[in-house]
Amino acid sequence: MTLDFEKEKLVEEMKKRKPKKVLVQLAEGIKQNAPELSEIIEGLGIECIFSGETCWGGCSIAVQEAEALGVDLIVHFGHAEFIESDIPVLYMEVKDLLNLEPILKKSIPHLKEYKTIGLSYSIQHRQDLEKIKKFYEDAGKKVILSKKKGFVAYEGHIVGCQYEGLKAIQNDVEAFVILGNQFHSMGATLAVKKPVVLLDIYNDDVRSMEGLRDKILKQRMFSIEKLKEAKNVGIIVEIKPGQKYGSPDYLLEKMREKGKNAIIITMSEITPDKIMNFYSIDAFVELACPRIALDDFAKYPKPILTMREAMVALGEKSWEDILEQGVI
Ligand code: SF4
Repeated sequence: MTLDFEKEKLVEEMKKRKPKKVLVQLAEGIKQNAPELSEIIEGLGIECIFSGETCWGGCSIAVQEAEALGVDLIVHFGHAEFIESDIPVLYMEVKDLLNLEPILKKSIPHLKEYKTIGLSYSIQHRQDLEKIKKFYEDAGKKVILSKKKGFVAYEGHIVGCQYEGLKAIQNDVEAFVILGNQFHSMGATLAVKKPVVLLDIYNDDVRSMEGLRDKILKQRMFSIEKLKEAKNVGIIVEIKPGQKYGSPDYLLEKMREKGKNAIIITMSEITPDKIMNFYSIDAFVELACPRIALDDFAKYPKPILTMREAMVALGEKSWEDILEQGVI
């Protein structure tokens, strides 16, 4: 991986914004770059503190840490702009300079049946977009970028909790090509009804997501049934400002109307260990990142559902709605 942290832009922004003290957040894969970034920032006479908390997405803005430390600015590396916050945030998208041509060539046999493809990419490949489009157009494909909707920052950009931009073009394409990783493509296959082909860049692999959707939908139905039977239910909310997927009060009221003993639990981050300690709870609904419930089914000792799935268990929505609208 050859990464470009846009250090000149960082220096320019620091000189323009003139913070005295900054909190730096690094996405999980780039935490090892903290010392070199510290040198640059401290070299400008700015006090610099790194957040050691997990940072899975642009949603994870460390507002509470920033307030506790009294910083003037959060510098968030590795994700595109996601939300606004009261504390100023400088989002620094990190570019991956890897040559994508070999994996693009590898993808052609997987796409031979499709003339029109929907294209989405993860943020570190944004600078290659025109090259990628040209490559596929030269190979005789029509390329349509997923739309910029909700939390996504650009046309074609993909984030794991927002697939409205892919749904918006699904009737115009025969298949989707996702440049990124399993996380993004798995979400896509749950959200849209067209075939999804992943260009798994860091594993140098191209594969279809076929089959995965049915397997996950079965797990989701199982979890919904478990919530229907549950007596004690935990509604988990996270304090991250970008992770609010549903109203805990509304859900609590609906649960109680159905005779369930429901409680609201707050967590800074949901983990199996924390869940384990609430051993009297039969099922959880999490209103934080929807991917925790969907991706980590096997890691958790109890069923965990999203808000949308909880609505099915409570009879407020039908399973057909979920299938029609997509799980995410
Ligand atoms: S809510 Fe989840 S999927 Fe969405 S950006 Fe945050 S970590 Fe990624």
